[in-house]
Amino acid sequence: MIIGVPKEIKNNENRVALTPAGAQELVKRGHTVYIQHTAGEGSGFPDELYVSAGAQILPSIEDTYGAAEMIIKVKEPIESEYKLIKEGQLLFTYFHFASHEPLTRAMVESKATCLAYETVERPDRSLPLLIPMSEVAGRMAIQKGANYLEKPLGGKGILLGGVPGTLPAKVIILGGGIVGTHAAAMAAGLGADVIIMDVNLQRMRYLNEIMPANVKTMMSNEYNIRKMITNADLIVGAVLIPGAKAPHLITRDMLPTMQNGAVLVDVAVDQGGCIETCKPTTHQDPTYVIDGVVHYCVANMPGAVPYTSTLALTNATLPYAILLAEKGWKQAALDLPELKTGLNIINGEIVYEAVAQAFDLPF
Ligand code: NAD
Repeated sequence: MIIGVPKEIKNNENRVALTPAGAQELVKRGHTVYIQHTAGEGSGFPDELYVSAGAQILPSIEDTYGAAEMIIKVKEPIESEYKLIKEGQLLFTYFHFASHEPLTRAMVESKATCLAYETVERPDRSLPLLIPMSEVAGRMAIQKGANYLEKPLGGKGILLGGVPGTLPAKVIILGGGIVGTHAAAMAAGLGADVIIMDVNLQRMRYLNEIMPANVKTMMSNEYNIRKMITNADLIVGAVLIPGAKAPHLITRDMLPTMQNGAVLVDVAVDQGGCIETCKPTTHQDPTYVIDGVVHYCVANMPGAVPYTSTLALTNATLPYAILLAEKGWKQAALDLPELKTGLNIINGEIVYEAVAQAFDLPF
């Protein structure tokens, strides 16, 4: 198969959909891999590395789309790319169609086949192509939180782990899923006192077994949250209710009960946030303060660490990309049910009910 990897052109997107190692795996199997000039640069992979892995460099985005049977990307195509997409071409990337009507209509018109990372769903309901970014965001939440707890950045001035003779910081993590577990492990590793609050008892039993002694679990409800946040130094919002907006677990009226200089990192901001006062921020201007509480609410946290994020994402996508290249999407989707759930549009026809419903389009 002929595979094309365009350079990401969405604002501040430095990830790339294929590493030189991934290109080598595809080339080794007899496929042709075209990489757009400098596509990997933002993630630390210059053209030369792709060339030595057996890929070929194409000078422009037009050439890359024009040459490929399958396009592998990170973010959804933006408007200037719509016209480059060809009938029958396979696109394998994040799309998030249900929140983007013009994109959905453009892909229907293009008559391309769109396999969306975010709806690739295993029979156990896990989402293997979203997990890596949750892992990155969870770990980063503690890095950021520790940073903003420093006095010059508006924080209380407490070191997460403390030092001998001083108490460590208190960290509360709302939601013990992928983000929450990785955040807890990082905070615990730095020596903080960590409490994970979740509503899923089975999950908390599991976390109790695997986490070190400085991580405890507690049922998430309004009573417990009101009580626990009063002396918390860092709170990480990591709640997800699939297909719904995040519930507001920390409401506006609770902020005055918190400590001056406490930090809130609401990772769930991309689903509306689980802290009422959270509004999306950017890496350029990541924080704001309300009632003395620092809010960090960056909606694309993994974008700040493109090297790690690219490797984490491509570790997860490559096995699927190889299968798609070897067998074509039809056979690959028959062989692997999760690739079938990833199909959102086939040759311009919407085949994913929630996307059709979102815009009243034929299904
Ligand atoms: P997940 O499904 O693995 O975990 C969510 C957890 O929330 C589950 O354990 C669930 O039981 C728990 N939960 C549900 N209701 C709760 C409540 N009322 N109180 C406490 N816990 C509750 O999800 P995840 O992969 O960890 O993702 C968490 C959020 O982070 C999602 O909104 C995701 O989109 C977001 N995310 C954001 C970024 C970013 O850059 N900001 C990056 C990755 C993921």
